[in-house]
Amino acid sequence: YRAKEAGGGAVRVALDVGAGAERRAGAGDGVRDAIERGELRLFYQPIFGVNDGRVWFVEALVRWQHPRHGLLTPGQFLADARRAQHLPELDRWVLERACADLAAWDAALDERAPRCVNVNLTVETLRGAGLAQWVLAALRRTGLAPDRLRVELPESADLAQLQAAVEQLRELRENGVGIVLDDMGAGSATLRHLSVLPVTGVKIDRSFVAGMLDNRNDDAVVKLLGDLGRSVGVDVTAEGIEADDQLERLRQLRVPYAQGYHLGMPAPADHLTALLRTGRPRGVARVPMGRLDR
Ligand code: C2E
Ligand code: MG
Ligand code: MG
Ligand code: MG
Repeated sequence: YRAKEAGGGAVRVALDVGAGAERRAGAGDGVRDAIERGELRLFYQPIFGVNDGRVWFVEALVRWQHPRHGLLTPGQFLADARRAQHLPELDRWVLERACADLAAWDAALDERAPRCVNVNLTVETLRGAGLAQWVLAALRRTGLAPDRLRVELPESADLAQLQAAVEQLRELRENGVGIVLDDMGAGSATLRHLSVLPVTGVKIDRSFVAGMLDNRNDDAVVKLLGDLGRSVGVDVTAEGIEADDQLERLRQLRVPYAQGYHLGMPAPADHLTALLRTGRPRGVARVPMGRLDR
């Protein structure tokens, strides 16, 4: 499909999105149809260890290769999918596909495969019946160990909405699945989430990273969440790294993981395979200050 034909052009495809964000799939094109017609794609964005430069995790980000509208990003179709109540099917498709892709990386790359894949789930899916059961079934079908999967909880989910999911999330956690609060600081995700939910990781919203070098308060929030992660034992990822000096500041603040366009764009699985193959093996060698492998 297009991103592949363009070679390194996955970057351009992903960056085009802002300009065409108002573009929508036409009425009648449900995500359900897209799944049936095989038009959904998964892109992956690497999450790097700030100190070792290694790709520890990858986040699965869904795209719709639409026959008429081209490659669509979630901002262009998630709202419609929500109205059509197609989100549970979308999330199931993504999760199963992501687990299968990580199993394939294991086979192709052995110890150079990412440690985990992060999958975003919607509130609708989290509140749905049998969450733990179908997630664990998907893991069994794809042959992936549960501790290789991390589910990301959306910033839009407040605790009242997640109440229905707490038991299910505990069961997933007991089986080894990681639970990550997405976009921490930006939406409804509060510090209370950390005590009520079996959280194993948090992602600092990219708005704080974007402001941290010019705004003392943003910098303080990044530092706070980094410190908090260390003291309660959850791993912390800063999102939206777009420049080297942001990475350098994260290193000073001892934030362990980083993700962003500056480090690696979302791209199809096979693009990432090439990057991982040339990357350093797990945990070996430190990266010189201010640099990460691209
Ligand atoms: P998110 O989970 O917070 O994902 C991060 C978003 O930030 C992605 O946008 C990613 O491409 C973008 N991003 C990454 N690095 C940078 C950077 O350095 N600068 C900037 N400005 N942006 C960066 P994307 O792929 O368009 O996804 C948007 C949102 O849609 C996601 O936010 C997530 O909430 C949702 N989403 C994406 N894929 C899925 C999926 O498979 N299932 C579900 N349920 N939701 C998804
Ligand atoms: Mg996410
Ligand atoms: Mg996020
Ligand atoms: Mg987000």
